[in-house]
Amino acid sequence: MVPSKLLWKRTLSQSGRIAALLFLVGSIPLFPSTAAQAPPLRAAAPKAQQALAKPKLVVLLVVDQMRGDYVDKFLGQWTGGLKRLVEEGAWFRDAAFPYAATETCVGHATISTGAFPSTHGMVANAWWDRKDQKMVTCTSDPDPSVKNIGYAGATPNGADTAWRMAVPSFAEELKFQTSGGTRIVSFSLKARAAITMAGHKADAATWFDGGAWVTSSVYGTQPFIEEQAKSHPAKADFGKTWSLSLPENAYWYGEKALGAVPPDGWDLTFPHSLRGKSGVAAPDSAFYEQWASSPYADTALTELAEKAVDALKLGNSNGTDFLAISYSSVDYVGHEFGPRSREIQDILVRLDKDLGNLFAHLDQKVGRGNYVVALTADHGVVPIPEDMQKTGADAGLLHLPEVQERIEKAFESFNYAKPAVARIAGSDIYFAPGVYEKLAADSNAMNAVLDAIRAAPGVAAVYRAEELRDRPATQSPTRRAFSYSYFPGRSGDLFILPKSYWLLDGTPLGKPRSYGTGHGVPYNYDQHVPVLLMGFGIQPGQYFQPITPADIAPTFAALCGITLASRDGHILAESLKKSEPRRSPPQAIKTTKP
Ligand SMILES: [Zn+2]
Repeated sequence: MVPSKLLWKRTLSQSGRIAALLFLVGSIPLFPSTAAQAPPLRAAAPKAQQALAKPKLVVLLVVDQMRGDYVDKFLGQWTGGLKRLVEEGAWFRDAAFPYAATETCVGHATISTGAFPSTHGMVANAWWDRKDQKMVTCTSDPDPSVKNIGYAGATPNGADTAWRMAVPSFAEELKFQTSGGTRIVSFSLKARAAITMAGHKADAATWFDGGAWVTSSVYGTQPFIEEQAKSHPAKADFGKTWSLSLPENAYWYGEKALGAVPPDGWDLTFPHSLRGKSGVAAPDSAFYEQWASSPYADTALTELAEKAVDALKLGNSNGTDFLAISYSSVDYVGHEFGPRSREIQDILVRLDKDLGNLFAHLDQKVGRGNYVVALTADHGVVPIPEDMQKTGADAGLLHLPEVQERIEKAFESFNYAKPAVARIAGSDIYFAPGVYEKLAADSNAMNAVLDAIRAAPGVAAVYRAEELRDRPATQSPTRRAFSYSYFPGRSGDLFILPKSYWLLDGTPLGKPRSYGTGHGVPYNYDQHVPVLLMGFGIQPGQYFQPITPADIAPTFAALCGITLASRDGHILAESLKKSEPRRSPPQAIKTTKP
């Protein structure tokens, strides 16, 4: 680690007058009060502008399960970072994932790579591995030389890496294509978020598992994370209480969310106390579930990110650094309490404050205008079915074990080995080895199976794999969405499209549902997410053209002057400042869409 004074001294002595000008602009942290009132960077000397032709730091923020309409609904209650993103940034109001598999791993990989799942191959959080005949998670790595490493003496299980992600992340490309020593740092409560945002290699990719902060041997550890982990930020929150932060009449929805399933130890109403199962004296597994479902986890991630900025001097190297945070708690709260809950509204009020603190920290340490931020989500969520039914709308549970029984029954009239279905994972139906090849050539049996699935309550349509391969031209938005999700070998054989507002539910027969609601289908409530850009090179305003979160990485790439392999995403040219000086060539960025 280089102390800050030394780093600045070296910069001054090595690079002469332009660096000295850069030093003056870059040294805003020394004068924070001046920084707050400082004129925009374009008013600085031209030579300094030339040296600042690329952002010093790219910041990617993903709020797990944040629906696009949360911004419209709750903006008036925000005073911190979320408000600043809307007021000082570019707000894309019609951003939506174009594919069917609206899940966490898929969304993060799409945001990170600028590619769709049919290109990057992360088709779900977990899928059926046909070779090994078992479920695999998107980050599980069978390489025996790889293992997860715990901070502060923790001994986590498993091995998680990005080896299944078929294209590099934006951050990896940035490090590879520039010579400036880019540092890549990511944090989340979830491995599938931290890993996909960072990529195959990184300086730090850290997640939370069973009460411990964890990384993988492919990334290695960082002393500042060890130090932070030893202070046990989660344990330190044991005994705290999550209470409403606004006056009661500021909340849109009733005291109890209909159909909600809170974590163990909590009931349906505020306040929620973080004390694990009742009566325990120390953190137990219920406590960690409560903590992950509370605003305190968002604050812990924010503090880790701020520590990373300080310890690694992110944004103060010769290149462009990359910092990513995926805030997981909105997702846990949404699964438990649903989108129409005081819990969702309140946790966003708290996150707004955390993000305000994060941006203030970045202003001080990197300099306002020297970094670019994107905030988005990996997917949305459907209202809790029991809650939606109150409107009189057709809503319900599409019970997947029942679909599986119907399929096996349909096979009884034909000569097939039992069981024919290997697994149903979300929308994807995987057959036992050899079954689908035989079925595809046996139209009577195929029709019987398709009819059996279509007859299940809540099913809108069934697609066959051969209808989705190679992104066929189609007028059907849902078939197109499934084709953008389709990756040969990993995706299923048949695909269930539920009716809108019908939740795919895999709860085993006879068991109670362990969650309130979910996501993962090609309807706007799962696909529509916020996309907000702010800072270096970004033209503030509201933008209404339809875009996808896969456009974020190409936009970052344009600002940093690098090229991504995939052309699934597009540069959000409308939101880029046209007058921003470029290094070489002077007009490197096209400002119109191809
Ligand atoms: Zn998610």
